[in-house]
Formats: sequence, C-alpha cells, structure tokens
Amino acid sequence: MTGTLFIVATPIGNLADITLRALETLKAVDLIACEDTRHARRLLDHYGIRTPCLALHEHNERAAAARLIDSLAAGQNVALISDAGTPAISDPGARAVAAVRAAGLRITPIPGPNAAIAALSAAGFEGPFYFAGFLPAKAGARQTALAALKTMPATLVFFEAPHRIAETVADLAALFEPEREIVIARELTKRFEEIARLPLSTAPAWLAAEEHRPRGEFVLIVSAPPPKAGLDAESERILKLLLAELPVKQAAKLAAGITGLPKNALYARALEIKGS
Ligand code: SAM
Repeated sequence: MTGTLFIVATPIGNLADITLRALETLKAVDLIACEDTRHARRLLDHYGIRTPCLALHEHNERAAAARLIDSLAAGQNVALISDAGTPAISDPGARAVAAVRAAGLRITPIPGPNAAIAALSAAGFEGPFYFAGFLPAKAGARQTALAALKTMPATLVFFEAPHRIAETVADLAALFEPEREIVIARELTKRFEEIARLPLSTAPAWLAAEEHRPRGEFVLIVSAPPPKAGLDAESERILKLLLAELPVKQAAKLAAGITGLPKNALYARALEIKGS
C-alpha cells in the first residue's frame, strides 16, 4: 500500500480561512512538506497540529521531492503546503507534484484559499480571465510582457510585491487603453484589506494618495480590452458588397465566412449600415 500526497491550501492572511478537510488532513498525515517550516509552525501551532514537517522550497525541491517519493512509496501519507494559499500557484510545489506523479503515486488536492481567485471574486468582472502571476522584475521585460498581454481578450490577473507595485501600476496605465478598469486588491482577508475598482488612468494617483497604500500584498485585476470600434476597411467593403445583394442575416453569415470575424459583430455592423 502506497501513501497519498495531499496538496493542501492554507490561509492567505486570516487564519480562520482553512477548511475542515485541510485541518483533518494536516492532523492525520505522517509528514507535512512546508515551504518554510518556521512559518508553517505558526499555523500548525494555532490549530494544535503536531505532525512533523520537512522543508520543501524552490532551492531544494528536487531533493525534497525524492524524499517525499520514498515516504509515499513506504506507505506514508504526506501533505504539501506553501506559506500562503494554494501550493504550486506562484509558489513551490509544481516540480514535486510532477515528480510524484511521474513515480505513479497518488496525489489529491484539498482546495481552499487563493489570492487571485479571492480578488477576482470581489472584483465584479465577467467573462474569461488569464492568470499572469508575477510580471518580470526588470522594466524592459515587464513592458514587453505587458505589450503581449494587452490584446488578450480576457480579464488579466497579476500578483505584485509592494516594492514594485508603483512601477507596475504606472506601466499598466501608460501602456493599456485608458478606458480599461483596474481592481487593486491589497491585504486580502487581513486587518487593512482594501479593494478599489478604478479607471486604469487614475490608478497611479490612487496608489500615491495615501502613505500606507503601496504597502502589503497585492493582486491587480485589469478588465479585458475594450471592443474594437468598427471593422477593418476590407471587411467593411466585403460586408457592404454582400449587403447590396442579400438580406442582413445572410450577408453577415457570408461575410463572417470570408473574413473570419465573429458573425454577431458583422450582423451588428450590417444593421448599422442598413439603418443609415
Ligand atoms: N500560492 C498563493 C495563493 O494561492 O494565493 C500565492 C503565493 S505568491 C508567492 C504571493 C503573492 O500572492 C503576493 O505577492 C501577492 O501578490 C498575492 N497575495 C498573497 N496573499 C495576498 C493577500 N492576502 N492579499 C493580496 N494579495 C495576496
């Protein structure tokens, strides 16, 4: 009988944000692999959990994974936790999970807090989202990454550290369309939690307005790009030619087939052309 590796989510600030199943699991397993054993002890002591800990961080992940595999193969159950939130999400864990999976051993998640999802749930943006994690630290690389993300048709979610928040928000305001909105979520679930939804162009001033604002932990959420106004010239020409011969619905359908553009965008534009 081999053991199971449980991937356990822990609080992102408020110690009460932990599931009953997470507590039961952390108590029941033989070993807990922790990003930082001293940090983990604070949570474990709070809940009276005495399970032994093993360090598993980005600098020893390969060796620690080998140790986990030995324990699991010997029939022990093991939990993996990170300093906060869900392991392997901008945190160590993915390489260990891959190694344990490759060894054919059982892995199961114990879901719970995640800063990105918590921020998104309180942001009020609909539709698909893209989790970009941390942007590059160097200005040039960060701006290149943002240029690539700018046209992605999705809400964008970023993590940011306090010493880079001002630069990142300034880059977002400078590079993205001014009508896009941003949600700045800081210190989620903690005493000084603050969540603001603003036009992107006003975000640098908002951040600078109070001395405490650039401090703490941040999730930034940026709304999807605004819909493109109008069609490109060639698609417009094709649609008009078809409209001269066909009813609106048929013209839009054929134009969509020819141009590859969405049928509803062409239909809406065809109605505008007919109307004028
Ligand atoms: N694995 C974690 C999770 O599931 O949320 C994320 C770990 S990542 C190393 C840490 C980053 O997550 C912080 O720099 C910040 O961007 C974000 N974060 C974590 N806790 C947060 C909180 N309470 N409020 C806002 N952002 C937080």
